[in-house]
Amino acid sequence: MKKLTSTFAFLLVSAGFAFAQNEAAKKTPESSETWTPVPPIVTPGTMAANASGLTAPSDAIVLFDGKNTDEWVSVKSHVSKDWKSTNMGPLKWAVKDGAMYSTLGSYARTKREFENFQLHVEFRTPEKPEGKSQARGNSGVFLQGYYEIQVLDNYENPTYSNGQVGSVYKQAIPLANPSRKPGEWQTYDIVYQAPRFNKSGILAEPGYVTVLLNGIVVQNHTAIKGNTDYIGYPTMEPHGAGPILLQDHGNPVGFRNIWIREL
Ligand code: MG
Repeated sequence: MKKLTSTFAFLLVSAGFAFAQNEAAKKTPESSETWTPVPPIVTPGTMAANASGLTAPSDAIVLFDGKNTDEWVSVKSHVSKDWKSTNMGPLKWAVKDGAMYSTLGSYARTKREFENFQLHVEFRTPEKPEGKSQARGNSGVFLQGYYEIQVLDNYENPTYSNGQVGSVYKQAIPLANPSRKPGEWQTYDIVYQAPRFNKSGILAEPGYVTVLLNGIVVQNHTAIKGNTDYIGYPTMEPHGAGPILLQDHGNPVGFRNIWIREL
């Protein structure tokens, strides 16, 4: 009996130790990085060098036309309590040459909130790249405030595959890497279907996202697993309509021609 008891105690302690190890592993940023497969590099079709991009179609809500930032406010971060805060000021981003730039330590948040939509965003990472991996031209487009489609200068800049430009950050590797050179304008076309939750807040149907980067499909009706956290694995927070956020990650990334069509 004594032996049995001590064996049982040993098993309990071992199980506890393994659990603690797993819990500890979840708490490092590296534990949710996936490095393979590496998305194949695809050279996108060309765009005229000085083209002003794709302006809004007649039925779109124009979120940024190159000058007017009235549709936006500044928020502290993508943590939901921050972007849901009522303490929001006018957008602090710099507007220059028809683009708005992620500077001055705040995220841009739309005043409006959306359910299902088609979103067009053009972005430009700094012409002179600084830093490497996730520290080069990093920003992001957050759908309904929760789900980041990564923006990164991934031109000849390796990083973990599930953190590349075109990833659903830390949960879905893009199908290709059609990055343009730093300083060149790039396009995102995003089709998004919001997740649905029942009255108890239980997920009834996941959200789905299809993403084209520079005209190339990088996410094809990808089911969204949950929040796109830097540390840990996705968790789902029940929610309704939400805003679009643009990330400030300390790199001056420019945005222009931002428009949305509700579906
Ligand atoms: Mg980012």
